[in-house]
Amino acid sequence: MLSDIEIAHSVKPLPIIEVAREAGVDEKYVIPYGFDKAKIDYSLLNEPTDHDAKLVLVTAINPTPAGEGKTTTTIGLADGLRRRGVKSAVALREPSLGPVFGVKGGAAGGGYAQVIPMEDINLHFTGDFHAIGAANNLLAAMLDNHIQQGNALGIDPKRITWKRAVDMNDRQLRHIVDGLGGRAQGVPREDGFDITVASEIMAILCLSTSITDLKNRLGEIVVGYAYDGRPVRASELKAQGAMAALLKDALKPNLVQTLEHTPAFVHGGPFANIAHGCNSIMATRMAMRFGDIAITEAGFGADLGAEKFLDIKCRMTGLSPDAVVIVATARALKYNGGVAKADLNEENLEALRAGLPNLLRHVDNIQSVYGLPCVVAINRFPSDTEAELALIEEECKKLGVNVKLSEVWAKGGEGALELADEVMRLVEQPNEFRFSYEDGTDIADAIEAVATKVYRADGVDFTPAAKRQLAQLRENGFGNLPVCIAKTQYSFTDQDKVLGAPEGFRITVRELKVSAGAHFVVALTGQVLTMPGLPKVPAAENIDVDENGVISGLF
Ligand code: ADP
Ligand code: MG
Repeated sequence: MLSDIEIAHSVKPLPIIEVAREAGVDEKYVIPYGFDKAKIDYSLLNEPTDHDAKLVLVTAINPTPAGEGKTTTTIGLADGLRRRGVKSAVALREPSLGPVFGVKGGAAGGGYAQVIPMEDINLHFTGDFHAIGAANNLLAAMLDNHIQQGNALGIDPKRITWKRAVDMNDRQLRHIVDGLGGRAQGVPREDGFDITVASEIMAILCLSTSITDLKNRLGEIVVGYAYDGRPVRASELKAQGAMAALLKDALKPNLVQTLEHTPAFVHGGPFANIAHGCNSIMATRMAMRFGDIAITEAGFGADLGAEKFLDIKCRMTGLSPDAVVIVATARALKYNGGVAKADLNEENLEALRAGLPNLLRHVDNIQSVYGLPCVVAINRFPSDTEAELALIEEECKKLGVNVKLSEVWAKGGEGALELADEVMRLVEQPNEFRFSYEDGTDIADAIEAVATKVYRADGVDFTPAAKRQLAQLRENGFGNLPVCIAKTQYSFTDQDKVLGAPEGFRITVRELKVSAGAHFVVALTGQVLTMPGLPKVPAAENIDVDENGVISGLF
């Protein structure tokens, strides 16, 4: 088998204009960034249309540390649909440089289910993340300058919540002291950097529906608190106009193509813990303009990614998915059945069976909590044995779970034909989509609803600090926003070692904070690093470029 980058290089991309034209989109909306990338003008979304596209969400069971192939499945499914004669399109998140140079490598799919040009998508792409970093840091600079110039707003330098951002895994910047050097050099204070994908600006960009919406949300950002305890907004620093100016092109969705020339929007990439973990609303809507069936992905497992896609993104936009695909792998089932990461390549039918309750709980959540039809896609890995695949299929059938084998990594769209047929059937089914809690629910009740209905916890405990923050949030008028729960991706609980389908546990919320521009309250249930570090041997050590500009070592 060739490497991902070798496979990507073996396909000649269509001119991007051609990809848009084939989807029936007028050239006037296409802003080419070279030959095979473009931004699409969002004015297209304002054009009247009677086009009524279906939306399919791809999510997963609780994953192994390597990921389960949601992106790969999303891309392969869209290619499979296209082979069946359906106009399809993809909407995905943009990879961050941090993981590309760290452990995970690229995030443009894998094998024969990739989006291209994968090296560009993985490295800088159209510059969106740099623009987001610049907007983030403009606000930080204006904030510190305000304090230096007399601090008319009375901002308490010890209660500044706005951090600086850079798109790199750089743990050295997590906690810093800045403003050193004397009177003219700023006000010394403790500060820190987040990775750009953890910046609230990233979440805001992904949830904005227009420049005006973007600007309003930027102005609503709470940067910290004044000496009298009142939240201070970015609008009080008059920062939102210039920030929006920096972001005007970043807001336009990026169009690329799959290896089989299906249109693919790759745009925005917020964290799936402290943010909602989905590509931009603009990109999802654009994919629904380009295709009759749009396939999109949400981060982590369904307890985090699908929950946030449904309870945050769909709530804020009125989007409503028509079907859900839950990606499972023999590896993740074994992992949930107690097998260590190093032994996942060994056949283990017992562990496989022991891991199935995890999958079943996610299936049940999608169907009975959210009222949506779903199919499980078994993403076939080279290490899977026939006996393992047969067991999964047999057990799922016994339990009435709709399941299809997906071989898109090895075969591209050809490997997803049965899955595509099933998705085509499901999107025509009536559904009763509902949120896991009503609009305007008090944040404590909303957290309780997600914890008990989706995670199946017995209840939620708030630490004394979280209780104080809860009272403060309510006082400041943030008490009825949707909640974004930051929790380990490996478990239904808040403990990453408790795998499978645990019962009889409680969730502990230890911190609450508002993302006032993104319009949600973040509830932290464990330690979440918003600035990751590099591993002992970073992927960066193997990445290279030759004299002709050809990149190698990306995977
Ligand atoms: P996710 O979106 O769930 O994080 P990805 O689709 O990015 O997962 O896949 C994670 C990694 O696993 C990628 O490097 C991808 O190439 C690889 N991968 C995905 N599916 C398969 C498969 N069926 N066989 C082998 N490798 C795979
Ligand atoms: Mg992914």
